[in-house]
Amino acid sequence: MLRTLLQDITALKGVGAKRRPFYAKLMGSQVVDALWHLPTQIEKRQAVTSMNEAKPGQLATIVVEIVSHHPSERSRRPYRIVCTDGQNMIHLVFFNPYVPFLKRIAIIGAQRTISGKVDRTKSHGHEIWEMVHPHHIGMPEDYSKWVGIEPIYGLTAGVTQKMVQEVIQDALSYVPDLPEWLDEKMMAERTWPSFNEALKQAHSPKSLTDLHPTSSPKLRLSYDEMLAHQLSLRLSRVAQRKQPGQCLKGTGEFRNKILEALPFSLTSCQQKALVDIKADMEQPHQMLRLLQGDVGSGKTLVALFSMIQAIESGYQTALLAPTEILARQHLKSISAQTEIAGITCAILTGREQGKTRKKILENLAAGEIQILIGTHAIFQDPVVFHRLGLVVIDEQHRFGVEQRLALSQKGDNPDILSMTATPIPRTLMLANYGEMDSSILTQKPPGRQPIVTKVLSLTRLPEVVSGLARAIETKNRIYWVCPLVEESEASDLAAATERFEYLSKLFTNRVALIHGKMKGAEKDSAMAQFSEGSVDILVATTVIEVGVDVPEATIMVIEHAERFGLSQLHQLRGRIGRGNKDSTCLLMYGQDLSATSRKRLEIMRQSEDGFLIAEEDLKLRGGGEVLGIHQSGLPRFHLSDLAESDFTDLYGSLLSMANKEAKAICKEDPNLLSERGQKLKILLELFGQKRNAEYKRSG
Ligand code: ADP
Ligand code: MG
Repeated sequence: MLRTLLQDITALKGVGAKRRPFYAKLMGSQVVDALWHLPTQIEKRQAVTSMNEAKPGQLATIVVEIVSHHPSERSRRPYRIVCTDGQNMIHLVFFNPYVPFLKRIAIIGAQRTISGKVDRTKSHGHEIWEMVHPHHIGMPEDYSKWVGIEPIYGLTAGVTQKMVQEVIQDALSYVPDLPEWLDEKMMAERTWPSFNEALKQAHSPKSLTDLHPTSSPKLRLSYDEMLAHQLSLRLSRVAQRKQPGQCLKGTGEFRNKILEALPFSLTSCQQKALVDIKADMEQPHQMLRLLQGDVGSGKTLVALFSMIQAIESGYQTALLAPTEILARQHLKSISAQTEIAGITCAILTGREQGKTRKKILENLAAGEIQILIGTHAIFQDPVVFHRLGLVVIDEQHRFGVEQRLALSQKGDNPDILSMTATPIPRTLMLANYGEMDSSILTQKPPGRQPIVTKVLSLTRLPEVVSGLARAIETKNRIYWVCPLVEESEASDLAAATERFEYLSKLFTNRVALIHGKMKGAEKDSAMAQFSEGSVDILVATTVIEVGVDVPEATIMVIEHAERFGLSQLHQLRGRIGRGNKDSTCLLMYGQDLSATSRKRLEIMRQSEDGFLIAEEDLKLRGGGEVLGIHQSGLPRFHLSDLAESDFTDLYGSLLSMANKEAKAICKEDPNLLSERGQKLKILLELFGQKRNAEYKRSG
């Protein structure tokens, strides 16, 4: 049914091989993509019978008589055709025209309709009217075709407004009469038009209100796209639901021992998250749960008790960390905590090689290792588990979808708990993880000290450095984070090295350097020096962003803080304020701070609430930045911009409506076999979500 719409855009009139790249860049590569390119403005093309009625600078259509042709006298001078409306002279102006064509359509003495932007200029001392590159020249009877309000579309280099208008008109003519897939009652309540009607109206706005996202046609189309998206997420979830999993009921045996030995009790949200997780793991299908919690909210402990439940049920578990530093830190704390229950932990990273690695792999295959902590190295082929029951993925957004899939294939559909400290605003949560259940740790463990954050110019570096001298005397430890210079690690490194040398001169033997290019052992040693206190300052690139836990660190200096994402700054800042001393974070900015950057740093100064920061970041910078990367699978809707701050609430509520409906549809008709189901399949196809759903299912 949609075959014509799914053709390549070269099927459209005026899109040849030469212009294809421009259109593909502007709208997308299929005919259907042209439909989603909605106008952003309107312009009125005024019908006039005399130029006296026309307004300079605006579009006008008029019937005139062609008086004379004036070829360019010199190159770069325009070709002119002089016309008259009976009272006024109008010059049609062309640069580099194809003259035979002009001669053919503008015959001297003939009546012609012309249409285009008109202006007043001077010619030989007279005020005249001018129309540069008329949009249309035609017969008198064409007059009525070229008057009224026109949609104005966003452009890109290589195409003109008129070209885009025509291409989109052509694309609209490809739309077949489609059946209604939305609930008729809901449509009636909201007075939404049919899909075909909505599309037509959205491309022919009559007023500025019609351009607004709240106009019925636009709302309906936005909703269609969101429903398609949520439905495909749900459908892949249904497929997953059918995947059997193990029932990991646990016995409580190890759990109680470890819990008793903890020097503190679990916070109420840790407990609640564990209740959710326990219920999921007991089910005979695979768990897919996201655990969100701000930096320092205690996610590791939740992960630990989830793993214990799997172990009590006779299964192995894996904990995946994005960096080696973090993996080693997890190993240290988790093996200390589980020792009392006699649980065996091991680590596998790129650093375990040769005999050590061989031994680990053997023990793993024999089922002797119960908790395997590691980095990407765990994905590799020779790593075989005896009986893998649960995989915990720390900082899940650091891993690609394929990597996560690879790991889940290491067992018989093991349960998966993904953790993230990058708080995901609800809208994004739905958009990205519509198919995932989630738990949130909303409070932090008791006894945390607030962090004072200051925003100051880099020109005050000398003051900051002399402040450090005093801080070191009073036994404070300092993280010094160097700027992201570019996307390249090499230039980050140069900046960090330079800063390290500068500080080393001032604080001899009290400074260590850590960066991503260092060998594992070197990193460990730098980290250990800082954590033991044999150095007071740790100069770092963003490798310290995740996981590092040094309670004595109370000061953090971040150079060129304006170059970091807010969530990243929040993560970095979370490295201090972990002990019982007051902590300070200095956000230093370079010259020429833009208004937005200033606002962003101001948010950091005012708030320590990761969720609020993420929401604000979303508003100021757009969705992709919150998660740091676009590969994180952030959907880009064609018809609504989730990140557009004025409409976050509108789109958020539309999205949650779509989420609910998708859920209900999947419950009733998970294979889309009913009459409505068949129509919804068309919707999925229209928005390119069909392939998506199938891809996920096969993965
Ligand atoms: P994150 O959520 O950032 O991964 P962690 O799990 O690393 O946080 O926890 C941060 C610190 O808080 C750790 O030192 C941990 O031992 C401590 N912690 C976790 N839960 C509690 C609790 N319920 N009470 C007190 N301290 C806790
Ligand atoms: Mg953590």
